[in-house]
Amino acid sequence: MAKLYFNYSTMNAGKSTVLLQASHNYREHGMDTYLLTARLDKRAGAGRIASRIGIGSDADTFDAGDDLLDMIATRLDKGTIACVFVDEAQFLTPDQVWQLARVVDDLDLPVLCYGLRVDFRGELFPGSATLLALADEMREVRTICRCGKKATMVVRMDDSGQVIREGAQVQIGGNETYLSLCRRHWREAMGDRPAP
Ligand SMILES: [Zn+2]
Repeated sequence: MAKLYFNYSTMNAGKSTVLLQASHNYREHGMDTYLLTARLDKRAGAGRIASRIGIGSDADTFDAGDDLLDMIATRLDKGTIACVFVDEAQFLTPDQVWQLARVVDDLDLPVLCYGLRVDFRGELFPGSATLLALADEMREVRTICRCGKKATMVVRMDDSGQVIREGAQVQIGGNETYLSLCRRHWREAMGDRPAP
């Protein structure tokens, strides 16, 4: 039986690398895969999933208005695929996560989603919240804080390195950078805990 997977992480944990490696494993054995990524993500250029270690692959893009069940059915008309990979899955709408669940249940096609769990305010992305509710299997792609503990949180910083404590969940086209931290150091950075 096909399953809906959610591989979640914080920023810079290498989830795109894990996705590309998994897709490569299928293709190496002669099985085709279908890659999707969010259209608002301009880091890799439109229609491409790229990792920080230099590998990349072309991908179709989705935004909030797309019906993913339709898109995947259209792709299947052109030929068989072994599974679907979705990068930047935090940007899925709850409806789109349900569409992916239908792909799994009704088309018997595995769907592997990769995305951030929480935003810089420590709040779940709606797409991730729905994936946490619906996924058959979940795995954490791990990275570490500067202290060596597992990083589960992320801070947003402006171009001078100052931590930004408020703002929209999604910031497009700015000069912000992100740093992954453990919860204790995230609280310190957010002013919730005195620095030692
Ligand atoms: Zn830490």
